[in-house]
Amino acid sequence: MNDPASNNPTIFGKIIRREIPAQIVYEDDDVLAFKDIAPQAPVHVLFIPKHVHIATLDDARAGDAVLLGKLVLAAAEYARREGFAQNGYRVVMNCRDDGGQTVYHIHLHLLAGKPLGHGFGG
Ligand code: 5GP
Repeated sequence: MNDPASNNPTIFGKIIRREIPAQIVYEDDDVLAFKDIAPQAPVHVLFIPKHVHIATLDDARAGDAVLLGKLVLAAAEYARREGFAQNGYRVVMNCRDDGGQTVYHIHLHLLAGKPLGHGFGG
């Protein structure tokens, strides 16, 4: 198999390969989205690249710009489809230890379903 995601050693690689279950809520040619196993809000969905294994945002390069844009736009599309775009939502990408990243396959968090306030915690 030539798909680079076949070498993705993370738990998200297992989800992409359907080796472990996940509640998948959105999928297109490049992006897979599924519910976070430990939700931090009533809606907490993770958007990940399906075919490219980029460990962190710091590992992304100019050639990944379209893919990163697709992650963001997939989240926006999902929010519209599910009817909470009007009320609003938050997207977050954690990078490495200080950013709180625990799974080293780049991903976007989409949080919604309640007022999230103005802070980012710490
Ligand atoms: P990070 O902390 O790396 O930004 O986000 C990783 C997220 O993945 C966490 O919010 C965590 O709850 C979620 N997560 C970790 N393992 C699994 C899993 O096996 N299934 C699902 N659906 N989410 C997971």
